[in-house]
Amino acid sequence: MDCRDVFRRISDYLDGDLDADLKRAIEAHACGCHHCEVIIDTTRMTIKLYCDGQSVILPIQVHHRLHAVLRSRCRDKLA
Ligand SMILES: [Zn+2]
Repeated sequence: MDCRDVFRRISDYLDGDLDADLKRAIEAHACGCHHCEVIIDTTRMTIKLYCDGQSVILPIQVHHRLHAVLRSRCRDKLA
């Protein structure tokens, strides 16, 4: 499990769609990786705001930009 694996599975992880082994592997990685910890927290918070029906709704462009930034940071880190 590395940062790219976490990033690929983050939606399933937050949706609770992963099997227990994968879930544990992501949590173990995030424990030792501040980068992934932040990504998971931020994404979870975004989903929560969205699901709570608050007036804060992330426009799709922001969503895409966030992903692009995260992706390039992941690449930098792993380069
Ligand atoms: Zn990581």
